[in-house]
Amino acid sequence: MNVTLLGTGSPIPDPARAGPATLVRAAGATLLADCGRGVLMRLAAAGVLPPMLSAVLVTHLHSDHLTDLNDVLTTQWVMSAEPSTLPIFGPPGIGAVVDATLDALAPDIAYRLAHHADLAWRPTVQVTEVAAGDRVAVASVAVAVAATDHRPVEPTVAYRVEGDGHSVVLGGDGVPCAGLDELCKGADVYVQTVIRDDLVRLVPNKRFQDIVDYHSTVEDAAQTAARAGVGTLVLTHYVPPMAPHQQDEWRALAAAHFAGDIVLGDDLTTIEV
Ligand SMILES: [Zn+2]
Ligand SMILES: [Zn+2]
Repeated sequence: MNVTLLGTGSPIPDPARAGPATLVRAAGATLLADCGRGVLMRLAAAGVLPPMLSAVLVTHLHSDHLTDLNDVLTTQWVMSAEPSTLPIFGPPGIGAVVDATLDALAPDIAYRLAHHADLAWRPTVQVTEVAAGDRVAVASVAVAVAATDHRPVEPTVAYRVEGDGHSVVLGGDGVPCAGLDELCKGADVYVQTVIRDDLVRLVPNKRFQDIVDYHSTVEDAAQTAARAGVGTLVLTHYVPPMAPHQQDEWRALAAAHFAGDIVLGDDLTTIEV
């Protein structure tokens, strides 16, 4: 199994970090978790084109995690040699978002259908709205679902992907909670989106400071990892953006609470299990 941080950014535009997205490859399956800004550029760098995706897992409907879903849908469709269905999993509401996205793409879909004689089908998706406790099979891997706490954003979920005898939890956004603890238990890898509340609080901007109450801090993520006994904690979605010289400082904050491996890095950082 390997896990690639496709985008380690956040809603804050960053020339060096794409929006939130993580790639999991295991047992022949290729799963994309979230579709933030620039996801297809990073997927291409990881050697993955959209028709190669086994499924898309969406943790929640915040725009930074979904903004390039349209690009995934369009390119999966246009690059496929024959009709192929893209499975999409997400919390309740993902169906309406996918429908609205396809509606917005209606002119493009009509242009391409009219222009390409061999393209005789529309983008085809199979949307499954998931809830806590669900366990689904995606290609050759199993995916378990837990509720997360990102209130007032609801509903939100985390996924545990199991394949090749290994497991990775994709925590998405949110503060620590029992559902996430349970999902993480004994996982090889736990990927968590984080913020530095100490740095956010220094910025005199109310709207920016609002983010503190519904995200895990670096310390929160480390404590979740320690409680669950995971092997490797992977931090992503750095707010504020993590400068290269700050990596050790961020790692030390986590290491004060978690004794396992801690990974931080740039886009395309890959963890092999
Ligand atoms: Zn986010
Ligand atoms: Zn969010």
